[in-house]
Amino acid sequence: MTIDSIEVLFQQELKDLYDAEKRLTKAIPKMAKAAGSDELKTALTEHLEQTKNQVQRLEQVFEIVGVKAQAKACPGMKGIIEEGEEVIERDAEDTFADLGLVGAARRVEHYEMAGYRSLIALAEAMGQDQARELLEETLEEEQEADRRLEELGQQLLEQVSQAGDEDEEEDEDDEEVEEDEEEEQPAPARRGK
Ligand code: FE
Ligand code: ZN
Ligand code: FE
Repeated sequence: MTIDSIEVLFQQELKDLYDAEKRLTKAIPKMAKAAGSDELKTALTEHLEQTKNQVQRLEQVFEIVGVKAQAKACPGMKGIIEEGEEVIERDAEDTFADLGLVGAARRVEHYEMAGYRSLIALAEAMGQDQARELLEETLEEEQEADRRLEELGQQLLEQVSQAGDEDEEEDEDDEEVEEDEEEEQPAPARRGK
C-alpha cells in the first residue's frame, strides 16, 4: 500500500506497535521467570499486566480511527526480544544475569517509547485527540517502567560493587579500614540519561 497520507502512515505504525506489544505479552513472562531478584521479577510481572492493557488500548485506537485491528510484523521488536533471549541463555552469575536482563528490558522500553512518540505526533497532526490521549497513557507507563528498571539496575550495580569492595578489604588491617571509612564510601553509581 502506498503511504500517501498521515492517516495511512498512522495505520502502518499502529499495526507495527500492535505486533510489538503482542510479542511482548509472550516475551516478558520468560524474562520474569529468568529474573533472580524478587524486585526485578515483580517489576517485570507488573509490566506484563500493563502490557496486556496496552494491547487493548491499541485496539481502542484502531476502533477510533475506524481500522480493523491487525498486526504487521515488527522486525525491530522481534530482534530486541531475541537479544533478550540470548541474555537469558548466556552464562552469568546471579546479579550479573539480572543486570543483563535489566539492560535487555530497558532496550524494549526505549524502542516502544520511540514508537509511541511517533504515533502521538501523527495523532496530534490528525487532530485525533482521543487516540492521542490513549497513546500518551501508554507512553507514560513505558517511561515509568524504564525509570523503575533504571533504579533497580543501580541497586544491583551497588550490590556488585560493594561485594567487590569487601573482597578487596578482606586482607586489609581492620583499624585502617575504619579510619578511612568516611572518605572511602564510594558514591552511588549514577548514570546520565
Ligand atoms: Fe508496551
Ligand atoms: Zn517495528
Ligand atoms: Fe513496555
